[in-house]
Amino acid sequence: MISGLRQTLYYCLQPLLLIAAVGIWYTNPTFELTYLYVVLGVQLVLGVIEHYLPARSEWVIRARQKSINVVLVFFLIIIALTLTAVYVEWLAAPLAAFRNAAGFDIWPHHWPILAQLLLVFFASEFVWYWMHRTEHRWTLIWRLSGHGAHHSFKKLNALNFGLNHPLEYFFILLPSILVELVFGIGVAAAGASVLTVTQTSIVHSNINLNSKAIGWLFTTNRYHICHHSADLNESNTNYGCSAIVWDRVFGTFLDTSISDAGTGPTEPGLWQKFLMPIKEPEDTSIAPGSL
Ligand SMILES: [Zn+2]
Repeated sequence: MISGLRQTLYYCLQPLLLIAAVGIWYTNPTFELTYLYVVLGVQLVLGVIEHYLPARSEWVIRARQKSINVVLVFFLIIIALTLTAVYVEWLAAPLAAFRNAAGFDIWPHHWPILAQLLLVFFASEFVWYWMHRTEHRWTLIWRLSGHGAHHSFKKLNALNFGLNHPLEYFFILLPSILVELVFGIGVAAAGASVLTVTQTSIVHSNINLNSKAIGWLFTTNRYHICHHSADLNESNTNYGCSAIVWDRVFGTFLDTSISDAGTGPTEPGLWQKFLMPIKEPEDTSIAPGSL
């Protein structure tokens, strides 16, 4: 019974969650609360499965720590939504003026909406790939973004999608907002953000999932957990947090099972994580130049 359930989840969970999330958005593409409902629904499904059928039992976290993480993610989502509004306020008018002045009106608005969604998804992931790769290869950007805080967790689960340093939201949000506003995309961009948040939740989850077929274009938790390795050579791979195709194109793809996650042998406390842009823990082994 349990092995049959594990097998079904192994093959079906990721594709079903992606189809369900995009399908819910597709029924009413302009409904603004879809993003938050999808975050809640996906986290509940993954959280329950991680609790009863974890891939690594040693990564199951206690209820108290889980509750703290839920509260942190709640406030970090509020920060992300506020910053999104600020970015749009700052950038929408100048980028629309640039598009009009340059005659840069090339977005295929006549395409089916789902084809537009995939186009904006992979275009945004292309920008994020290079931004994320820069965070890992350039000490200044590693520190400014506080990206080490996201990597510092020794136990990963679906909630880690939102456990980023507040400063990092200045970086994380920019690729999709720039692509949306430079091209004047419209409603398909909202669908892409629903697909992205579903993917980033799945790829941090502590559940046994299949990586074949789906893992040619979309990343999986096997590939992304590899990026969270405490070994610098394993960590400097798989920069795509939703799509994996750009790692395959640019030669940073790695498929291996890691033994240890985090920035080093120990996990810093919450306050230490917050201070990582100005002071890194001494045992950090995956910061740029750690070799
Ligand atoms: Zn990273």
